[in-house]
Amino acid sequence: MTKTVLFNLTDKEREEFVVKMGQPKFRAKQISEWLMRGVPDFMSMKNLPENLRKDLDSMAQTLPVRIVKKLESADGQTTKFLLELNDCERIECVLMRTSYGNSVCVSSQAGCAMGCKFCASTLLGLKRNLTINEIFAQILVAQWELRNDRMSEKAIKPNGDANNNDVSHIVIMGTGEPLQNTENVIGFMERANNEMGISWRRITVSTCGIVPGIQRLIEWGRPINLAISLHAPTDDLRKQIMPIANKYTISEIMDAAWRFTDTHNRQLMIEYILLGDSDGNLLNATPECAEKLSELVRDKNCMVNLIPWNAVDERKFTSPSGNAVHRFQDILIKNGIHTRIRRERGTDIGSACGQLRLNNQKNN
Ligand code: SF4
Repeated sequence: MTKTVLFNLTDKEREEFVVKMGQPKFRAKQISEWLMRGVPDFMSMKNLPENLRKDLDSMAQTLPVRIVKKLESADGQTTKFLLELNDCERIECVLMRTSYGNSVCVSSQAGCAMGCKFCASTLLGLKRNLTINEIFAQILVAQWELRNDRMSEKAIKPNGDANNNDVSHIVIMGTGEPLQNTENVIGFMERANNEMGISWRRITVSTCGIVPGIQRLIEWGRPINLAISLHAPTDDLRKQIMPIANKYTISEIMDAAWRFTDTHNRQLMIEYILLGDSDGNLLNATPECAEKLSELVRDKNCMVNLIPWNAVDERKFTSPSGNAVHRFQDILIKNGIHTRIRRERGTDIGSACGQLRLNNQKNN
């Protein structure tokens, strides 16, 4: 029997559901409150009678995702989840506990069609877009984990106003290209803001440069953060590692991105993975690339995140040496560019983005 996913129902439908079970309407409200805490099962709903919990367990499920695997980094600050959807597709999401708050990186698609040569998420192609509920449920999984932290006194105290140990930041940077699923991603952000109170300024959408999608975000008009996964400073080099470069030029992408940031007075994030080729020669991490990248962003409100490549077994790139990474950064700094080196958090738990999902698809 297919179980009803209670999170997928509207409030009214949830009420009808419990009334059909012979229960008073207020049970629906209790269940809704549990769902918004990310409860994974009915037995944890302690304010419901035990018989009701058992009945619910036999005919329904709480969220449209279930945890297949949970990995924790050695420092305990990063938790990576492998989640299964109801059609058995799998996705990843990552909870990062930081001094400024609790950030969740969510997936927007099962797989990805973009074919970036350095990425594990695209190796099995695109399976499908995620629904709004499936994206939202990833936040709730993290929210329940944070609740468990509080119970075990593991919670770290963030600085500033984000000291409530709830999810405070969202990055849509997991598996998939968010702007290939734009309307569901927008619907998800609206709900995260309305229903969880997550500020627009703490939500980041990362795209490989889908120009019409950036235009849609401008029309939507919310002051979120935009990140562009650029990874090369020239169209020729970009075409070697990102097929999307055959569709949109860097100039078209940057024009759209600056229009977005000018509209909202936001700082643009540039994501730049530093790669060497299979022989260990620098590919996009040469001093010339650093100079060209500087020209693209000079005098703009922009932060360049440099990301040393995380090995993906199936991909034949290499990671530049620490010296090469710092030399690249030094050139940006000399040119007046805001930049930082971002080490992927939790690299000890499934390494690069998409790797956990890939390994587990292959093993099944
Ligand atoms: S880097 Fe992003 S857009 Fe490119 S293949 Fe991976 S998930 Fe898709």
